[in-house]
Amino acid sequence: MSAGAVEWLAPSSLRDAIALRAERGDEATVIAGGTFLGILMNQGFLSPSALLSLGGVDELRGIEVVEGELRLGATVTHRELERDARVREAWPMLARAFAVVASPRVRNQATVGGVLADADYASDPPAALQALGARAVLRSPAGERIVSIEELVLGYYETCIAPDELLVEVRVPAAPARAVYRKFRSRSREDRPCVAVAAVRDAQRLRVVVGAVAERPQQFPEVCAVADGRDIDTALAKDIGEGYAEQIAAIDDARGSAAYRRRVTAVEVRRAIEELAA
Ligand SMILES: Cc1cc2nc3c(=O)[nH]c(=O)nc-3n(C[C@H](O)[C@H](O)[C@H](O)COP(=O)(O)OP(=O)(O)OC[C@H]3O[C@@H](n4cnc5c(N)ncnc54)[C@H](O)[C@@H]3O)c2cc1C
Repeated sequence: MSAGAVEWLAPSSLRDAIALRAERGDEATVIAGGTFLGILMNQGFLSPSALLSLGGVDELRGIEVVEGELRLGATVTHRELERDARVREAWPMLARAFAVVASPRVRNQATVGGVLADADYASDPPAALQALGARAVLRSPAGERIVSIEELVLGYYETCIAPDELLVEVRVPAAPARAVYRKFRSRSREDRPCVAVAAVRDAQRLRVVVGAVAERPQQFPEVCAVADGRDIDTALAKDIGEGYAEQIAAIDDARGSAAYRRRVTAVEVRRAIEELAA
């Protein structure tokens, strides 16, 4: 291979993809839609000597509903998910969280596995998936393990995916009675979120996950517990929003300061809970 050339590994079965992943480890960078990697490579932050493409692996492409559980292959694109009739009907909040990512051009390429594996804090889908109780299936030649989104995302651009593992599927439990996703952008229509709020109400229990405010999606069950078994009204929604703003870890970045993010969190959490109750 000439200097600077990138080796392109293109398995056509999942078995071969996993074998190659185990054999080459981090020395071959996994590529799915390439929307995240493309930017890193174009800007010179990453210069892989080999790329392991998942594009030819048909087993990773499907959307299925199995006994009420949604199963998303790792290379299902954002666009396929947001347009799938079963997802729109039974998990409309999830369809929305993927539909507000970037532009149709990006969503035609970006994959479900890619957005979780890149673990970019300023993303939409992770908070929505965490609120819905989704789990990721990680596979290596040694077998399979299934982890929650909380376990998967460890920090900035860091996951628990081992160098011999691929994320092969995301499983989303049967949809809750009510679910809402709100994306707050501070700059442009196509921007990443400044604050992302996913709220779920089921069996009189409330779960609220806030993403994009710090390194990982955050939730505070003890703050939500005041809503257990109670009707939600504006005062309760406001209290929970303020409780989140007090507890949340927030960062400063180009989309907003930590103080700004805390104020937006109070408002967006309140609005999400009010929408749930409407
Ligand atoms: C212009 C632009 C705007 C954007 N705006 C938003 C936005 O508003 N909201 C938002 O949430 N996101 C946004 N994004 C991010 C986008 O959603 C991600 O880039 C995309 O989801 C990554 O998916 P991919 O398939 O392209 O991943 P790739 O770029 O192919 O890979 C991403 C990372 O995950 C690893 N990887 C991929 N698949 C697997 C797998 N199956 N197993 C193990 N590792 C894997 C790769 O090695 C790499 O490290 C934006 C991106 C762009 C380019």
